[in-house]
Amino acid sequence: MSQATVEADVLQTAGKGVRENPVDKYLRMERMPTIWCPGCGIGTTVNCFSRALDDSGFDLDKVAIVSGIGCTGRVAGYLKLDSFHTTHGRAIPFATGLKLANPELKVVVYSGDGDLSAIGGNHLFHAARRNADLLVVCVNNFTYGMTGGQVTPTTPYPAIASTTPYGAYEETFNLPHVVASAGATYVARWTAYHVRQLAKTMGEALGKKGFRFIEIIAPCPTLYLRRNRLGEGLEEMKFYKEKSVIKNGADPKDVGLDYREEIVVGKFVDIERPTLEESMEKRMREALGAKYVPYQQPGKMSPRS
Ligand code: SF4
Repeated sequence: MSQATVEADVLQTAGKGVRENPVDKYLRMERMPTIWCPGCGIGTTVNCFSRALDDSGFDLDKVAIVSGIGCTGRVAGYLKLDSFHTTHGRAIPFATGLKLANPELKVVVYSGDGDLSAIGGNHLFHAARRNADLLVVCVNNFTYGMTGGQVTPTTPYPAIASTTPYGAYEETFNLPHVVASAGATYVARWTAYHVRQLAKTMGEALGKKGFRFIEIIAPCPTLYLRRNRLGEGLEEMKFYKEKSVIKNGADPKDVGLDYREEIVVGKFVDIERPTLEESMEKRMREALGAKYVPYQQPGKMSPRS
């Protein structure tokens, strides 16, 4: 979100002073402008997330956001929540610990494809397997933006990256399939063009339990688009509009992405199964019976404890 965007968002209403943009209260305005380049899709996703928070009515003191490293990793620092900017690839284990220590929190992980599916890939599918009670938002721009545009596990054949000057050639991750096959209970994908659907999906996912995963296809004009001579951010939005096909309920194994081909979007998975905490609680009760003492948050302990 550039300074110009921030200024444009503060609408002047004649005779009524300044009307605040509804998302401003979810942002740390003192940190504006962001580091994001003009046309970058990350700011659009943050706008959608702020609107989802606004609609949710949640007590914001009970919502925490955790990011890893990278351009998307800066999101936590711009949102006016309890924010944690963690080490590379480690947002999910950090968030899992946060949730286990304070089960009252809604914990959101917000990071990029490189951070979540490469260096953090191990944590991604194990958190899905365990059904850790987290919402994971993955902005997939097919590159490592902050470190110079290297190839990531989602860079499609034969896109150019700084480390694949003749074009990417490795098999890619179909992220919805990876997390769904590992056990995620909610899986959806939209692009940065689908702002209404994305905000609605974020709101729905925030209200659910278990491992929830939203992939957002978003433009990185500075590195990915420029290297591949694909134009500016606006042209990429037009591309998303033309190439996206909404298929709610599609089998995640069928939604893999190819370079400049159809982008299947929608909600693919929405199921229920016991969360990590519920499974642990059940097993401990079976094993220990009356001797089992459930975990109590420090601030909620009884006077006798
Ligand atoms: Fe966005 Fe790419 Fe710029 Fe990073 S380098 S802020 S991903 S446009």
